[in-house]
Amino acid sequence: MTLAERAAREKTLAAAARVVEACRLCTIGSTRTHSVFGEGDPCAQVMCVGEGPGETEDRLGRPFVGRAGELLEKMLLAIGLAREDVYIANTVKCRPTLDAGHRLANRAPTPDEMKNCRRYLDEQIEVIRPRVILALGAPAAKSFMGERFSITKQRGQWYDGPFGVPVIATFHPAYILRQTGGAMTEVKKLVYADLKAVRQRLDAPLPAPAPAEQQSLFDPLSS
Ligand code: URA
Repeated sequence: MTLAERAAREKTLAAAARVVEACRLCTIGSTRTHSVFGEGDPCAQVMCVGEGPGETEDRLGRPFVGRAGELLEKMLLAIGLAREDVYIANTVKCRPTLDAGHRLANRAPTPDEMKNCRRYLDEQIEVIRPRVILALGAPAAKSFMGERFSITKQRGQWYDGPFGVPVIATFHPAYILRQTGGAMTEVKKLVYADLKAVRQRLDAPLPAPAPAEQQSLFDPLSS
């Protein structure tokens, strides 16, 4: 990846973040404190996609900075990745709340909110073209794999995602934090297995370029 390519990606993502900041397609665009576009390495191999910003994220304008974020960082470290190595985004960029005053708890994003915001997530994926998308929790997984996706039965398996990027789903860190005792140990084991599948995919050699591209490298008549 050249420095110029990295700079071009940063510029495109910054422009998209400004569009998100001005977006009012949903009412949560007016009730949120800050939009939470996403952050991380624009050339990341792994893109983590969560559900939507919570209270802390809304206040700071950054994804996964609360307790769930701390656990996500530990999960990534377990497979040798620092937070700065990945790109972190959400299915919706504004905090879904039950009231305009932010007093009531977070709620799940509605299908309409996810649909409105999908263009921004797709743009992030298109610009970054990670090798892997890690969907965190059922809403994020369903946004890629469809409504019938079952996080308990289908996590840890590979699916085709947008722009041909492979997607794998695991439990959301906030869900892990809600478990106690043996249940937590069990869920952590499953999550670690999913993370190891990500590591394995990253360690596998990149597929060879398509024959047409190979040919053009050596064919003086082409391009
Ligand atoms: N949970 C999410 O799904 N996303 C965040 O950014 C934080 C918590």
